Amino acid sequence: MITPVMPVYNRANLAFEKGEGPYLYASDGKRYLDFAAGIAVNAFGHAHPYLVEKLHEQARKLWHVSNIFRIPEGERLAQRLCDASFADTVFFNNSGGEAWECGIKVIRKYFTHIGQPEKTRFITFQGCFHGRSMTSIAAAKTEKMVGGFGPLIDMFDQVPWNDLEAVRKAITPETASILIEVVQGEGGMRAATLEFIQGLRKLCDEHGLLLFFDEIQCGMGRTGKLFAFEHLGVEPDVICVAKGIGGGFPLGACLATAKAASGMQPGTHGSTYGGNPLAMAVGNAVLDLMDEKLLKQVNRVGAYLWQQFDTLITDFPKLFSTNAAPMFHEHRGKNLMQGLRCVNADDNLKLVAKLRENGLLCVGASDQVVRFLPPLIIEEEHVDEAMAIIKKTVADYIKANSIKAGDAA
Ligand SMILES: *Cc1c(COP(=O)(O)O)cnc(C)c1O
Repeated sequence: MITPVMPVYNRANLAFEKGEGPYLYASDGKRYLDFAAGIAVNAFGHAHPYLVEKLHEQARKLWHVSNIFRIPEGERLAQRLCDASFADTVFFNNSGGEAWECGIKVIRKYFTHIGQPEKTRFITFQGCFHGRSMTSIAAAKTEKMVGGFGPLIDMFDQVPWNDLEAVRKAITPETASILIEVVQGEGGMRAATLEFIQGLRKLCDEHGLLLFFDEIQCGMGRTGKLFAFEHLGVEPDVICVAKGIGGGFPLGACLATAKAASGMQPGTHGSTYGGNPLAMAVGNAVLDLMDEKLLKQVNRVGAYLWQQFDTLITDFPKLFSTNAAPMFHEHRGKNLMQGLRCVNADDNLKLVAKLRENGLLCVGASDQVVRFLPPLIIEEEHVDEAMAIIKKTVADYIKANSIKAGDAA
């Protein structure tokens, strides 16, 4: 018998009643420190008073009108995003996958618009994750996601991560774009290197391709800059964001330069809900909070968390890899998007479950990684609280599983 809610998730048997800042409270009253943040969504934790107030204020006035009318709060949010970035124009969506798909359409349309309709293909990377639509699973190509869904849209050429030579070789006259997560989330929290991203920009310029960043997980302050690419000294032509930009309200956005979006005219794209007044009120409120002071805090607390994890890895070499293949970092990510790669295949998910039992919420990722995505508002004291739980859990785990010294790769 099937459950009324379609059983596509392995859900933890745990439901929450309320949240406050970085804490969640279960129905039985137990408190959890939330280093999952709804998978990088709750940038300001739970029930942030300012976001609650702005949502209520808008809810009393107007929820939805359709994009056939002007939406002033949306015009304001689009302008603010453009002012804060390389972009000249923005399309709002309800989710990450839709924002990504909008970017794909923008790029496809650009090349037909400039008279190069043969350019239809995107270079993507092993371990990439761009959502669950038919197009985005075709980009990811993993058996887990595509099994049973073929034939797939044939538009993506996948190459190894951080391998510039492989990208160069994959470029053909049909290539339109290079598409990359600046820091991979789902795929294992791998951050692209400076030289790699700069090399991609150069390749795009040399070959007349558009550079497309998926910052749905790593954008909106999570790495300590509003956009993760700001660390790397390059600018993309198109970018999609979501997750953090709504702080928990479903909101995504596709940002593009005037050139990249030059093919997008009335009728080429649309969304019923995208950018409705409720979403726009929340998006503007999120940007109000995402100021220099907050980004400074993310950098400070992120560095502290990094140092704590480095110590943890040295203290427990039997569990966390200290000797992964050179292209991997055993301790991955950037600031409040960090991953610890386990040596043994299933340890990451088992650890996530044990940490949850001990009151800390985090998420698994591919490639044997435990993923930490706390709200951006956490302080050092929350890191200390998390580390106490992690140290105890890891020590218990090693004892219970009698992982032997020397098991590490
Ligand atoms: C979550 C995520 C998506 C998909 O977003 P949805 O809102 O689930 O559609 C796409 N790309 C990346 C990098 C993500 O982390």
